[in-house]
Amino acid sequence: MNCLLCNREMPYQITLKDIFSFGEILTPVICDSCKNTFTHWDSDNQCKGCGNGKAEGRLRLCKECQRWQQLYGWHLYHRGLYHYNDAMKNYMQRYKFNGDYRLRLVFQREFSRLVNQSKADIIVPIPISTVTMQTRGFNQVVGLLREVQYQTVLQVIVEDKAAQSSKSRKERLETTQPFSLISPEKVVNKRVLLVDDVYTTGRTLYHAASLLKQAGSQWIGSVSLAR
Ligand SMILES: [Zn+2]
Ligand SMILES: [Zn+2]
Repeated sequence: MNCLLCNREMPYQITLKDIFSFGEILTPVICDSCKNTFTHWDSDNQCKGCGNGKAEGRLRLCKECQRWQQLYGWHLYHRGLYHYNDAMKNYMQRYKFNGDYRLRLVFQREFSRLVNQSKADIIVPIPISTVTMQTRGFNQVVGLLREVQYQTVLQVIVEDKAAQSSKSRKERLETTQPFSLISPEKVVNKRVLLVDDVYTTGRTLYHAASLLKQAGSQWIGSVSLAR
């Protein structure tokens, strides 16, 4: 088997753990040197909102989350798994924009474990537009989920002309609500976990979360592969 990222051949040794797990053997899909280019967030003692920023004030929120709190009167409980560093940017470019569907396997297990650890009643991936679906062929968020019971509750109503990644921070924060709820009844009084691939400004997740709030969700958390 070759590394999915650098294509180098990987020596694969079956470990005792594999032998005694009686389950599926967890063959690594990337080599150790590629694996080491990604860095996990360490979320001890950080912002209660995004898990990453420096917590300040009575609410223990970072400056960005304090802004969301002021705007909406509530804040998300977000967790990002990895730093959005150069390796992650490069990964996203290949997986999402070049549409290399195999690359979902690089983080699928670990990310799905994080999603399934949540105490939420319902798991909602951020949707992509019909146009993106036609060009890319898959929803990159759903691609990262394996053995996760998720629900399609949101849909994209506004096709964004410019890609998020080509916008300035200010432009991203000023976008209009791009989603609508397909089945609001599913989220009433529920604890909802939103799932996205990348958390940049939080704008996308807050748009989605505000619809869930209006529909009567009890609690809203979110996770992303990168932050
Ligand atoms: Zn590699
Ligand atoms: Zn924060």
